[in-house]
Amino acid sequence: MDKNLITGLILAGGRGSRMGNVDKGLQPFRGTTMAQHVLERLAPQVGNVMINANRNLDSWRVFNVPVWPDETPDFAGPLAGLEAGMRHCATPWLLAAPCDSPFLPGDLAERLAAAVEAEDADLAFAVTQEAGMRPQAHPVFCLVKASRLPQLSQYLLEGGRRVDGWYKGLKAVEVMFEDADAFRNINTLDELKGLDSTLPPSLASVTSCLSSYDPDALPVRDAQRIIREFVQPVNAVEKVALRAALGRVLAADVISPIDVPAHDNSAMDGFALRGGDLRHDAPVTLRVIGTTFAGNASSMVPAGGECVRIMTGGVMPDGCDSVVPQEFVSQDGDAITLPAGVIRPGDNRRFAGEDLKAGSPALRKGRVVRPPDLGMLASLGVPEVAVQRRLRVAFFSTGDELRSVGEALDEGCVYDSNRYTIYGMLQRLGCDIVDMGVVRDDPAALEEALRSACENADAIITSGGVSVGAADYTRQIMAKLGDVTFWKIGMRPGRPLAFGRIHSNGRSAFLFGLPGNPVAVMVSFYFFAREALLRMMGADAPLPLLRARSSGAIRKKPGRTEYQRGILSRGADGKPEVRITGSQGSGILRSMSEANCMVVLHDEQGNVASGDSVDVLVFEGLM
Ligand code: AMP
Ligand code: MG
Repeated sequence: MDKNLITGLILAGGRGSRMGNVDKGLQPFRGTTMAQHVLERLAPQVGNVMINANRNLDSWRVFNVPVWPDETPDFAGPLAGLEAGMRHCATPWLLAAPCDSPFLPGDLAERLAAAVEAEDADLAFAVTQEAGMRPQAHPVFCLVKASRLPQLSQYLLEGGRRVDGWYKGLKAVEVMFEDADAFRNINTLDELKGLDSTLPPSLASVTSCLSSYDPDALPVRDAQRIIREFVQPVNAVEKVALRAALGRVLAADVISPIDVPAHDNSAMDGFALRGGDLRHDAPVTLRVIGTTFAGNASSMVPAGGECVRIMTGGVMPDGCDSVVPQEFVSQDGDAITLPAGVIRPGDNRRFAGEDLKAGSPALRKGRVVRPPDLGMLASLGVPEVAVQRRLRVAFFSTGDELRSVGEALDEGCVYDSNRYTIYGMLQRLGCDIVDMGVVRDDPAALEEALRSACENADAIITSGGVSVGAADYTRQIMAKLGDVTFWKIGMRPGRPLAFGRIHSNGRSAFLFGLPGNPVAVMVSFYFFAREALLRMMGADAPLPLLRARSSGAIRKKPGRTEYQRGILSRGADGKPEVRITGSQGSGILRSMSEANCMVVLHDEQGNVASGDSVDVLVFEGLM
């Protein structure tokens, strides 16, 4: 299902009686609010998000998504929130999640959607089962057809309040999720405090949250989740001048100091007039009493039967509320005539503060500043902004067979290419980079390099030396220096990955030990390191996957994720179509260079038939 068919709804309409009668979702949690965590997890899964809340609506508006209170009175519970959501939802499907579930699964929408589609159901909800326990239903985590609103309203009207009671007459399906902890909600202030430790978690505590964890057969999504939970933002802020903010991560919300636009103004070149003078049944003739240009406030105040010639952006004269575009009128000396009904009162006027109200957030903390953002900040007159300091990333290649460019290529050796691809990828992310060259396959050299990297950088990226044959001493040294785990990930290319945090002389750094194969190194970087590095920078920028039609059949085994190099183009019907590039060997860097995208064939997926839709990661913008 296309995620744009789904609206996410955060249920936050409760009384919060066990939280001291404050809105649960607004409680501080891990550096932000609980609801913000839910929003961050939900937003990437759906086309748009809204919130159901009944109090403190101003506080809820800062989330910058529509906020809808219950329609059924007296805090009637989650169903009343669901009702409000279904009423205001503009998409065929609504996905609800409570505001106190900051760990909700990243594939909630995807899996519930697959179930309603497969079963042609009205509703799907999550179920979990812990070892030795009965299955537990989570009916507030549900995907529901918005058109089923009448059934829900009827149930509420009759006094029904049970979350699993209203859909008796509908087709509902259960979807089993492995990870019961993802549905954990936080009910009391004590629970909240217990989870809100500011100490970094240990890898063991993070992996223990997965109901099944096997480092030797780890699904891609579990590895991504562990990494996401483990890495922590580096909180260091600097002020930079506006232009220097391009590509940087905002460290605080930018609050607009002014209304934009500052005045009511004209959206057209034409004549500003009083809506009361308009007739829908007969032409109107008005006297032009002057002209107002953009940038010149005018003191003219037209009386009834008068108008002012106005240019686009010109400040609306007092008393005028409408603009007739010049091409709609005939002019004769200082009189203009409008045919009947060409405009309605209020047309072509822009209101002060229509783009942005003074005091409201113009850009959010965590945003990577792009060209339109620079323009917007300039339009507010903001001369400098607070950004996160650049992330320092040290990297080196390992392998006795590696030669650096410029050196002679001895028998049996290869040039070190990974250091260049990694350089490029880090540069595109806007990191400060520390290139440490090639490190020999030697325990002492490796330890020395890791220590130095750790003391000089926030994160370390290595390539090579983590595959089975090579890993033995790498593992020992990395383990000696900190909390590092070695994984075999269910993916191709790029199975081995070392991940964790090491310490040296009172400093620590997150470590990504990527595989050595030149294609594997890039795939592992994009699908594991990139998001983590962005997170450390305080940014939230999940990989944007698109859907495209496969122009040919692709063989694929279920049970692992495959990344195939592809070429995305416009098909004969104008829709996106992707074709796999020739050689897919993980050592063949040319396949990467020739490709303009990667086709992502997820774990469960089997063979792809020609014409099937597949997920695609477009390189443009990433590379
Ligand atoms: P490893 O993971 O160290 O066993 O390396 C796997 C393969 O990738 C070997 O064929 C290496 O020669 C190759 N390789 C490792 N590092 C690099 C590098 N920096 N540049 C190019 N090829 C590399
Ligand atoms: Mg090696």
